[in-house]
Amino acid sequence: MTATHLIEARGLARYYGSQCAVQGISLELHPGEVLGLLGPNGAGKSTTLSMISGNLAPSAGRILINGIDLLDAPRQAKRHLGYLPEHPPLYRDLTVDEYLRYAARLHGLARSEVSEAVELAKSRTGLEDAGHALINILSKGFQQRVGIAQAIVHQPAVVILDEPTVGLDPLQIREIRDLILELSREHGVILSTHILAEVQATCHRVMIINRGQTVYTDTLQHLAEQRPSTALKVAFA
Ligand code: ATP
Repeated sequence: MTATHLIEARGLARYYGSQCAVQGISLELHPGEVLGLLGPNGAGKSTTLSMISGNLAPSAGRILINGIDLLDAPRQAKRHLGYLPEHPPLYRDLTVDEYLRYAARLHGLARSEVSEAVELAKSRTGLEDAGHALINILSKGFQQRVGIAQAIVHQPAVVILDEPTVGLDPLQIREIRDLILELSREHGVILSTHILAEVQATCHRVMIINRGQTVYTDTLQHLAEQRPSTALKVAFA
């Protein structure tokens, strides 16, 4: 393994009891890259991202984040990661500022660093004027912005977004896509989605998984050339 990758994962597997959710998944994320993780319902996308973000222990495999072994040194490795889960716990009774301050501390920022970090995260996600708003009253699109803001508040090298546009209306989807493109100027990004158009609009490379296994990994250009292969039919069925 080499430290030139933001993420390098090898041979990931996860069992739930005797059920195998993910088997033999390997992936790399390069600096400046947006990697799309594509696959149908139940393919294993969230399980893979939960393992890579350090929130779910793999049954097998190894994960390096910026060269740091996530399983051996989770605190140090997680410092380089921001993660928006598919179903984020948004602490809806807090204001945006309160929640982001809390997230900043959770991510290990010192008290003296929090205010500046929160202001920067808000400005990068279009939340400059929403600091005093209760998360509860925000639209779903703005709640996703808050979720993304907490994922970048500590300026991680990598941002992992699990289906960030699910449940949003078309305008909100476009806004979140634009935001992802903005993020990719400063962070490596892994984006999980069901939607090919989302990958085409934002990703450099795509990895398709089905039934817990990788069926395709390549550039978007090759993806376009190969349609409709068996692997792609699986992903877009
Ligand atoms: P979706 O797009 O619907 O979110 P996904 O590609 O993210 O799907 P996962 O949520 O990772 O897929 O699920 C992969 C498999 O693991 C599925 O068969 C799912 O039912 C199973 N699974 C996921 N979480 C658990 C759990 N906590 N306990 C048992 N089985 C689980």
